Order: sequence, then structure tokens, then C-alpha cells
Amino acid sequence: MPHATGVSIPDTRPRAWQARDVARLTYVGHATTLIEVDGVALLTDPLLRERFGHVSRIAPPAGPLPRPDAILVSHAHRDHLDLPSLRRLAGVPAIGPPAVAEILRSQGRTVTTLLPGERTRIGPLDVVATPAVHDGRRAPMGPPREAIGFLVAGTQRVYFAGDTDVFDGMRELSELDVALLPVWGWGPRAGPGHLDPERAAQAVALLRPRLAVPIHWGTYASPRVWWRADPRLPAREFERLAAVHAPGVVVPILDPGDSMALRPATAAG
Ligand SMILES: [Zn+2]
Repeated sequence: MPHATGVSIPDTRPRAWQARDVARLTYVGHATTLIEVDGVALLTDPLLRERFGHVSRIAPPAGPLPRPDAILVSHAHRDHLDLPSLRRLAGVPAIGPPAVAEILRSQGRTVTTLLPGERTRIGPLDVVATPAVHDGRRAPMGPPREAIGFLVAGTQRVYFAGDTDVFDGMRELSELDVALLPVWGWGPRAGPGHLDPERAAQAVALLRPRLAVPIHWGTYASPRVWWRADPRLPAREFERLAAVHAPGVVVPILDPGDSMALRPATAAG
């Protein structure tokens, strides 16, 4: 992966980075996760509403969240870049691809633009944009738009895939503590450019993380999806298939709203 350099977000709270000795992951719901590593809190693709379009939230409402230090936005699709949700996070800087930056800057937000291979720093963390195989255009007939994923690298290495299909370059994202992988969505199908439980399990085999956490499931549902009576089905199917494709990788299933502590891979010594 090339190593171009993005623009750094000014570190305006230098003492805060040392104040919070937390490594924690929260599955807020859909693609929204809170990644807390080395005193920095990053919120991915915030979607915090009860409905968007004809799709309603079936999980409990998103609870109170600590104010993140930055927002990571993977692409401009409406379930990943939701302006009403972002308005609840006024003043928080964002990181995203150019199509995202264009929209968020027009709302007055500070945005660091990254394309795959580029990186920026937030306090002690490196945030690296990773490729994503996904058509990120915001309107069906609109111009092509980039989609990216993110690697958050500090004392924990956390990969947030955004929306993507499996791609060979996943092999290069080495030594991951956590891979946050989409395993379904809000509709009856996970179409091209998305992962279903089978393809997400294939991604785990390429990524070989310590933990593979399914996301993008169980939060929103269109009216007649097959799993509506049991929203955990896609996550459980992912867990089963990951054990086949990538035995040894632990698959913690967090329900929307749940958090887990992230432990270091090895004890110091
Ligand atoms: Zn998308």
C-alpha cells in the first residue's frame, strides 16, 4: 500500500490523549461503531436516527455516547453519511474520501480528505484509508464516488471495512486486533459491493484478525425482511462460517448498543 500523507487534524487536546486509558469497542448499530484506543474516541459512519427513508430502527435507540475526537465517514451513501445524525455531532472534525469531504465541508465541518493508502494522525493514532470495493455514489444516477475503509493503528489495530466486497488487498492489512466487518444490511439481500455472512467469512480468512466483529446487521430493517423475527441470524451465520473459513479467529457478537474491552494481543515482557 502506498504511504502518501494526508493533512493532520490539529491536536488541540494534548492532555486528553493521556487521560483515558481505554481500549474499547462499542457497536452502536449498523455501521456506527465507537472505537476507543489510546485515549482517542473515533465514531464511524454515524447513523443515530429512529428512521431513514422507509427503513426503521428495530434495535433500541442509540444511547448517549462520549463526544468523539473525530468522525470517520467511509462513503456518501445515506446509511453511512446521514446529515441529521451528523448535526448531533456539531464541531467534531471528520475524515473521509473526497466525495464525503465535499458534502461535509459545505455544512461547515472540518474534514481531512483521505484516499486509499493515505494516512493522518489523531493524537497518538494513525488513521489510514484502505480500499473498498463499493460503488459509493449518493444518488442512483449521480457521478461515481469513492468509498474507503479505515485502519486505526495505535496499541490496538482496528480495521473498519465500511461497505465493501471481498478484495485481495485484505491480505495486506496485517496484524489486526479487530476487524469490524459488515455481514448484512437493512434489506432482504446483501447485493454486489456488500458482504453477506459467507463473503464476510472469506474476508476473515484474508484478514486473519484476532477478533472479527460483525456489524451492519440487526439495527435497521425494511418492512418485510426474512430475518425480522430474529435479527441476530446474519451475525450467527457469520460466526458459523468464520469458524469454517478462518478457524481460530474469535467472533464476538455485540448486539447494537453493546461494548467490549479490547485486550492487548500479548502481555508485555
Ligand atoms: Zn454503501
